[in-house]
Amino acid sequence: MSTSTDLKARKAAAVPNGVGTKGIYVAKAENSELWDVDGRRYVDFAAGIAVLNTGHRHPKIMAAVAEQALAFTHTCFHVVSYESYVRLAERLNALAPGDFAKKTLFLNSGAEAVENAIKIARYHTKRSAVVAFSGGFHGRTHMTMGLTGKVMPYKRGFGPFPAEVYHAEFPQPYHGVTTEQALADIDRLFHADVDPKSVAAVIIEPVQGEGGFNVAPFEFLRALRRLCDEHGIVLIADEVQTGIARTGKMFSIDHAGVVPDLITLAKGLGGGFPLSAVTGRATIMDAAHPGGLGGTYGGNPISIAAAHAVLDVIESEDLCGRAGRVGQRMRSHLEALAKQLPCIGDVRGLGAMVAFELVKDAKTKEPDADLTASILAHAEQRGLILLSCGTSANVVRLLAPLTIPDAVLEEGLTILSAAVRDAYGRESTRAVA
Ligand code: PLP
Repeated sequence: MSTSTDLKARKAAAVPNGVGTKGIYVAKAENSELWDVDGRRYVDFAAGIAVLNTGHRHPKIMAAVAEQALAFTHTCFHVVSYESYVRLAERLNALAPGDFAKKTLFLNSGAEAVENAIKIARYHTKRSAVVAFSGGFHGRTHMTMGLTGKVMPYKRGFGPFPAEVYHAEFPQPYHGVTTEQALADIDRLFHADVDPKSVAAVIIEPVQGEGGFNVAPFEFLRALRRLCDEHGIVLIADEVQTGIARTGKMFSIDHAGVVPDLITLAKGLGGGFPLSAVTGRATIMDAAHPGGLGGTYGGNPISIAAAHAVLDVIESEDLCGRAGRVGQRMRSHLEALAKQLPCIGDVRGLGAMVAFELVKDAKTKEPDADLTASILAHAEQRGLILLSCGTSANVVRLLAPLTIPDAVLEEGLTILSAAVRDAYGRESTRAVA
């Protein structure tokens, strides 16, 4: 088999530059660990970007996929339908918040789910404008790029973006943006830029993922619900990263007790197989005419079989409870580290979606993207896979599988501390020299 060095060179020659990679080439993976083609073992705190809530190759998911592969693998639901699609829709409709009739549509990626949620909201309201938030991330297709509130690496050079998308401030207490200020910004938007009666949807991640694991204050989400009700706007919770037990509840918006009209799901839903969904109020979901929604692969039978097993595993292994415990352990570890190292300005998150922000100065909170990149590199050298996030690329996020054994979690946290100390030590020495 080729080595990582060979593969990096072949990738550079064969795959476009825009497809960014870390340079780790996997040979095999199990639960929260993986081994690369050179035989190096890693603890995985990235989980394929919040996809593997149920870990790599969960035996029950593998068995469900194998069984489905023996029966049929693709017919296209629009051409020849299958019961498992309908049953998964029924399960998500029952799980999603809201005491009203719901319906679910399946697609392939998170971006596709968001695209469809916007299409549905526009059709239902017969309005065109959409309000999204600064720092938000919704995908890499044209509409979702337009909705995204983070320029690098997602928007630079790819415009023009779709019209009728407006960005409001996302509340960020650590950076001095209070709930009141964020609500005042929406008020400004509605007076200066767009008539609320022209707004089809407000889309929000209850916890911003790529934007830096900023948790929307619950009172802000409740105020958004009231605003949407007042103006007849569809409230969309983008739970692509936060959904499916990651934050300690099936949907992160459940923490706020807010019922959105539509929810977008992907990542954790398919347990490693491509699947996304829009779940929401039947009256809104039913607006579009037959043939207006869907696609060739949406709700592929293999991915649907995996998703049934994912939901079973979440229930039988109490992964919501486990997310709370994993997240608590990560937070207490990071909070102790932050007391010793002033470069850690903030520790935040919800459930097992935990992050820390790196700053050059605790008072000015000037972002330290170089230190963040260096922490990731040191962690990787020591055998831990980490991801960064944040509009200034100065946040490290921890997204371990919820099934991670305690011993592997502790190992990962120990490597993480060492990596932060290595990187910070090196940077402070450089600053003094
Ligand atoms: N929405 C959110 C909140 C996301 O975090 C992501 C991906 O990270 C997307 C949408 C896009 O999902 P995908 O990459 O599957 O298109």
